[in-house]
Parts: sequence; structure tokens; C-alpha cells
Amino acid sequence: MVLFTVLVTGVLLHSQLQGSLQRQLESSLEGQAGRLATRAAELLDRGDRGPAAAELSELANQLELRITLLDAQGRVQLDSHADAANLGDESRFVEVSKALADGRGKARRKSVLVGRDTLYEAQRLVRADGSVVGVLRLSIGLDSIAQQLAALRARLALGAVAGTLAALLLALYVARRLTIPIKEMTRVAEALGSGDYGRRISQQRDDELGVLGATLNRLGDEITQRIDTISNDDARLRAMLAAMVEGVIAVDQDDRVVFLNDAACQLLNLAAPEAIGRPMWQLLRTAELVRLLEEAHAKGHVVRREIQLQRGSREYTLDAHASPFDGGAATGLVIVLHDVTELRRLERVRRDFVANVSHELKTPLTSIKGYVETLLDGALEDSKNNVRFLEKIAVHVERLAHLVTDLLSLARIESQQGALPREPVDLDALVRKALKRYEEPARGKAVSLSMHGEREPVVVLGDPEALTQVVDNLLDNGIKYTTGGGAVSVRLERHNGVGRLSVTDSGIGIPEEDLERIFERFYRVDKARSREIGGTGLGLSIVKHLVQAMHGNVSVTSRLHEGSRFQVELPLARTPVVLRGVEVVPPAKESASE
Ligand code: ADP
Repeated sequence: MVLFTVLVTGVLLHSQLQGSLQRQLESSLEGQAGRLATRAAELLDRGDRGPAAAELSELANQLELRITLLDAQGRVQLDSHADAANLGDESRFVEVSKALADGRGKARRKSVLVGRDTLYEAQRLVRADGSVVGVLRLSIGLDSIAQQLAALRARLALGAVAGTLAALLLALYVARRLTIPIKEMTRVAEALGSGDYGRRISQQRDDELGVLGATLNRLGDEITQRIDTISNDDARLRAMLAAMVEGVIAVDQDDRVVFLNDAACQLLNLAAPEAIGRPMWQLLRTAELVRLLEEAHAKGHVVRREIQLQRGSREYTLDAHASPFDGGAATGLVIVLHDVTELRRLERVRRDFVANVSHELKTPLTSIKGYVETLLDGALEDSKNNVRFLEKIAVHVERLAHLVTDLLSLARIESQQGALPREPVDLDALVRKALKRYEEPARGKAVSLSMHGEREPVVVLGDPEALTQVVDNLLDNGIKYTTGGGAVSVRLERHNGVGRLSVTDSGIGIPEEDLERIFERFYRVDKARSREIGGTGLGLSIVKHLVQAMHGNVSVTSRLHEGSRFQVELPLARTPVVLRGVEVVPPAKESASE
């Protein structure tokens, strides 16, 4: 701006000065011409050119002008700076022709003689009688004007440089005071806006900009504090949601997942990143879910439904609650999923149990009732049948007693809540005794019994009575479900720090789909057949409960029509035991690994 102002002012001043200097020079030339006119006419009229030329030169020197005298035809007669003979006719020049015609003429042009920009003033010289003597022409170089203008230009340039320097200094000062702090504030504000909440303004000032800076810093502090609070709340909420057993899923208005916790990921067998943003019906393709979401949206309050899920070969039951939420801009549904598969299974088992108990009790009771009524109706006197009827009653009573004993044992085990007193038990001796007891029934069915064991005794931690019941049940089943000519064998071994008892038979085997359920109460592969051979359906259930109460586990492998193998694993005992009168310390390796 300063440079521009200086330039414009300079140009205006320059042309103004140039004009006024030229006008001054013109009027001074005009004045001189007026004063010299009479003398010039005399010099022209004089016949003697020599002294006239000398006088003219002197005059010109004094006045610092060039003086030329021309005749009435415009031919040069005398010239203060040149030889008149060399100049000749100059009537072609404007000033001369105008002076001859109008009395006065002026011009500005480059002089032929000196080659400089020159100002010319010509006046017609007239005698007293009115006849024209010639023309007096004064001329002066415009060098002085050029010099003055050059001086002006130099000053203007100096002024421009000084002004620009001053302007630069001022700009620097303004930048330091104003622009730099504003720029810093802009940067800090941008940083805050883009999430870099730690940025602050470093300069402390007491003016308005200082106040603005301090306000911006306070704003930064406030934002940081709020973000911290929000982050903490968010982290706490996420930790709580992550720790929840229930699956929690939040979906937006279009049922797209916006959040889901770890439990939900596990239940739906998903990874969180792949689920976020996807519609819920894509993740869980069940009609119940679609209905649940629709209902929750429509009713505007919590809706509950059970959802069946098939994952691999297993079926899951999820109890799903969907409740709408309205968080201002964010609305949608929160879905809470609770895995009730086990609960529903237990409910079913319990229902079946009650039905089974009733049924199991009813069958022998109906028979007993029938026989008693027959006896009362007169069969008592029938000496042929009365004893047979009573024997039948006895068989059914025996079955009832058996059933009730089994039920009581189950109830007792359950009431002890898995805490059976445990002591070191030599399985070898226990199994041998059991085999002895079953020799008779096995022989009756033509089933061979055998035992294979380790050379070292297998001493486990358990309750001798419970273990006897376990072995009896397994042997009983083995013999019961093996047809004549088959074999039942017991094997004892130590394996990976546990004592293992296996009862293998070459019997009818168990279909694969039933394997998982045979340990349930009353579960029987073939109800009629089991009942016929005196089974209650409780034996394996009792085995399982007893083994678990001794911190062991029981498993089964079986092939239909080929046979089954039941395996019971129990912790090995660490303490020495007295076996057949000899104190035996179980091998250290097994004890340690137990
Ligand atoms: P039960 O008194 O009927 O034998 P359990 O609980 O002992 O009841 O057994 C449950 C069911 O498992 C039996 O009904 C039978 O179908 C099957 N089962 C048990 N042991 C064997 C075995 N060794 N071979 C084949 N099936 C068996």
C-alpha cells in the first residue's frame, strides 16, 4: 500500500512539476524575448555582422540562452551558438513560421544542433513603420527541468524505501502482536476440534487476545475433563457389560447392531467387529427374533420371547428380552439374551422324572391291586393259584422296594451335595468281591466274568460303600444286557494320575443317539425290555452321582450289537494303605501327577 501510494503520488507530482517548470521557463523566455526585441531588431538591421555576432554571444552567455536572429524569410542571420551560414532557412520550424505569421510562436523539440530536448520562443521583430525586420528566437535546453525531476524521483524513491521499511516494521509488529497469537489460537482450536484435547495456548498476555487465549485454554480443560468423565463412564459400563453372563446387544432404529458384549458374541458365535453395523436378522436368522424385534418396535415396551438356535449339532434355547430405548438422537432396542438351554433341559428331566416315577410306581401297584382283588374275590380259597398269586405280589413288592431304595439312594446322594467321605480304597479287592457276588447270575445267563488288572494295586480315594454300589451296578448292567455266551470283563489300571475301572461287555450295545442320555434318571433305551429284566432305569444315574461325589467321572463308549464299555476314573490315593496285611505306598509318580 505504501509503495503504491508513493508511486501514484510520485507520478502525479512528477507530471505536475514538469508542467509547472516548463510553464515557468516558457514565460521567462517570453519575458526575455520581449526585453530583447528592440535590441535584436537593431542588430539585424546593422550591416556589420561581426560586432553584432559578438554582442549576441555575450548576451546569450549572460542569459544562459541561445539567441538566433532570422530575417523576414526565416533565414538565420545571427546565432549565438553556431555559425549562421551553416544554419540557413529555418522557416520550416513551427515557432519561426508561427512568429512570422502571428507575431509569436513557441515549440518544444529536440535541437538539431545540440541534440537535447529544447524549448523555443520566437517573436516577430517589427520596425517603427510596421515592416517586418525578422524573427528573434530564444531557446533553452530542458536539462534543468530534467535534473529537478530526477532529484524529485530520487527523493520519492528514498521516501518509498523508507516508507516500505517502516511499513514492514509495522507489519512485523502487528504480526507479532496480532497475527501470530491468532494463528496459534486457530491451531489450538483446530487441534481441539480434531480430538487432540491436550493442546493449549502457550502465550500469556493481558489484552483481549490474552483473554481469548485463556478462555480457549479453559475450554480445552473443560473438554478434557468431560471426555475423561465420559471415557471413565464408558469404560465402567463396558466392563460391567463385558462381565455380564447375559448377552447384551444394542441395535439402532433399522435393527443394525451398534454394540454387543462378549457374552453375546459367545452365544451367537460371532466376533464383535464383524457384527457391528450389520442388521440383526443377518446375524440370527430365526423367525422368532424378527418377530421379537417387530413386536418391541410396535409396542414400545419390553417384549420377551424364547429363541431356538441351532449351532452345529446342538440346539440352544435363548431367553430374549427386547426393550426399546430412547437416547435423544439415538433410538433403538436393547436385546438381552440369556442361555436357558440347561434350565430347559433340567425342567424337562424333572418333568420326565415325575412322570416316570409315577409310571414306575403305578405298574407294580396295578398288578398288586389286581392280584389282591382276585384273592379277595375268592381266589384265596383256590389252593392251586393262591400261592402263585402271592408270589407274583411278592415279585412286584420286591420291584417296588427296589425302586424306592434306588430313589432314596439318589435322594440321599443329591442331599449330600457331592460331598462323600473319601478314604483310600483298594479297587482290586473291591472288584474281586463284587465279581464273586455276580458269579451266580452270570453263570445263570451263560456270561463269562473276568478281571484284568495291573500288577501294582490301584488305590483310589473314595467311599467303599459307594464304590461297591458303582461296581455292582455296572456289573449288573453288563450281565443284564449281554446275551448268553457273551463276556463281561473288568479292567483296573492307572492312567495319567487317576485310577481307572472299565467294565466291558459283549452285549447288545447302545445306539449312539442314546449314549448321552443313559445317565439320566429313568432313561432306558428299551423300556419294556429293561422293565422285564428288573431294571429301574436309575442304576446309571446313581453311578454317575456317586462317582461325581467322589470327584471322579464316568463315561461310556458303545457299538450297537457289539458291546459297551463303561469307564470310571477316580483320583489315586496318596497315603500308604495296608493291603492284605502289608503296608503299601502308592507309586510316587502317580501320586504326584494326581
Ligand atoms: P436299568 O435299571 O434299566 O438298567 P440303568 O440306569 O442302569 O437302568 O441303565 C439305563 C439304560 O442304559 C438301560 O435301560 C439300558 O438301555 C442302557 N444300558 C445300561 N448299561 C448297558 C449295557 N451294559 N449295555 C447296553 N445297554 C445298557
